[in-house]
Amino acid sequence: MMRTHTCGELRITDTGKKVTLAGWIQRSRDLGGMTFIDLRDRYGITQLAFNMETQSDLCRQARELGREYVVQAIGKVVERSSKNRKNPTGEIEIIVQELKVLNPAETPPFTIEDETDGGDDLRMKYRYLDIRRNPVRQNLELRHKMAIETRNYLNNVDFIEVETPVLIKSTPEGARDFLVPSRMNAGQFYALPQSPQTFKQLLMISGLDRYFQIVKCFRDEDLRADRQPEFTQIDCEMSFVTRDDVLETFEGLARHLFKQVKNIDNVTFDRMSYHDAMKYYGTDKPDTRFGMRMGELNEYARDKGFKVFDDAELVVGINAAGCAGYTRKQLDALTDWVRRPQIGAKGLVYVKCNEDGSFKSSVDKFFDQDQLKSWADALDAQPGDLLLVLAGDDAATRKAMGELRLEMANRLELRDPNTFSCLWVVDFPLLEWDDETRRYYAMHHPFTAPLEEDMDKLNSDPGNVRANAYDMVINGVEIGGGSIRIFDRDMQAKMFEVLGFTPEEAQSQFGFLMDAFRYGAPPHGGVAFGFDRWCSLFGGSESIRDYIAFPKNNAGRDVMIDSPSEVDEKQLEELSLKLKK
Ligand code: ASP
Repeated sequence: MMRTHTCGELRITDTGKKVTLAGWIQRSRDLGGMTFIDLRDRYGITQLAFNMETQSDLCRQARELGREYVVQAIGKVVERSSKNRKNPTGEIEIIVQELKVLNPAETPPFTIEDETDGGDDLRMKYRYLDIRRNPVRQNLELRHKMAIETRNYLNNVDFIEVETPVLIKSTPEGARDFLVPSRMNAGQFYALPQSPQTFKQLLMISGLDRYFQIVKCFRDEDLRADRQPEFTQIDCEMSFVTRDDVLETFEGLARHLFKQVKNIDNVTFDRMSYHDAMKYYGTDKPDTRFGMRMGELNEYARDKGFKVFDDAELVVGINAAGCAGYTRKQLDALTDWVRRPQIGAKGLVYVKCNEDGSFKSSVDKFFDQDQLKSWADALDAQPGDLLLVLAGDDAATRKAMGELRLEMANRLELRDPNTFSCLWVVDFPLLEWDDETRRYYAMHHPFTAPLEEDMDKLNSDPGNVRANAYDMVINGVEIGGGSIRIFDRDMQAKMFEVLGFTPEEAQSQFGFLMDAFRYGAPPHGGVAFGFDRWCSLFGGSESIRDYIAFPKNNAGRDVMIDSPSEVDEKQLEELSLKLKK
């Protein structure tokens, strides 16, 4: 036996036992008469003790060993004289009788400690060493738990896990595909799936009724912060369901994960229309841990002689409660903040609601006290509050105000990572107009069904048709999204027509699905969750990379294995990617 126990399990009740442990040397301390080694494995740390007087050879051997050596120690468990209450094994130590080096190690490029001296790049290059560190390993343990509990829940409510292919067909809709050249079919390519969308719909036509898969998906997008070219979804589809059936089923999944992983009970889900999300929060993924809803001030602020407002499509404000005491400097800093190119506002108007009931604003020249009071009333402000107001184009200003709302909440510490506020955003627009290509794109994807009551607008007013689509949002993070699907061949053909496909294009790209609809497609709908993101939300980290064992960096590179890389001419020739000379 290589070991009888792990390094995390021995307790005072084990004293007297002869044990064999194996692991890595965390550190050693040489105190003259005694030498101590902290032996580490995934489960914990146990102290090995060597006595110079009684075991001088062994003690000398122990002193030679460096950090991260892999060793096996046989010895006796004894009670420690100076106990370490912080370590679960801290009441005992092992008086070593035999010590064997299983493998020496070079000094690692950074310390294998909770707080390491290694920078990001170095740790990514040696990710296998990084994973030896507790915080990184614990993230992977959390991910494992999330995956197991997801499977438990879905299995219990009759979902079956089915694997769908990784080499599929490229379609120009959606994000850019990763392509894989086919050696056996010269000049042709597979694509890696951006999601198993069409396959899961086909599985509903197959009668599987409830499908799920924890599955890798691939999107060749320019990497924004915290995007990975390959990521994992919890992908699900159900037959014979309405929207509410889907939402309830997956609220159940969320509640199960909250309970099992975070030990949080009584999680509830609000539902909010896309329209309201944009109106009150300036985003389709509102953080509802705090209020501070946006209020429109057009009727109180325009046509009063202040040109900036008169020219604006929208004047909108938020109420930063209790912030009337903000100094000139703080207000200037906020103004600079909204003017940053990422936010793009031209300026910021403020109104202080003084304790005595009067108002002090940056536009006192244009607005009298009564007018400012009407703003304060519209935004539900009390004495002591601060109104922040932006003006400009409708969409851009709403978005900027949404950002300012989050920034104020950060400053006021209203975004506690241990508080969770969950909701579904529903009734998204079906289509998005793109000025450049002068056509509509599906906001979700082309398989999403329009809302029944908007169906008649599909020809006359496609831009205003709402989709039977929904996103799950937790703390301002879009955790997942899905829709009720089109399951009628004619309707699907109509959808492709609205999206500007010729019937031939629709047939050549999605004929397999449209043909399948001929053979008895049940009504169906589903959802997919960003698994990495859900892990990072539960783990309390901003970055999904922390929850992926071997992530890619911001340039899409794996710096550990040095990929992507060039390949042999020979390989390119085989793939018909280079003409033979
Ligand atoms: N396949 C969709 C996505 O990846 C999710 C869904 O509609 O189920 O966004």
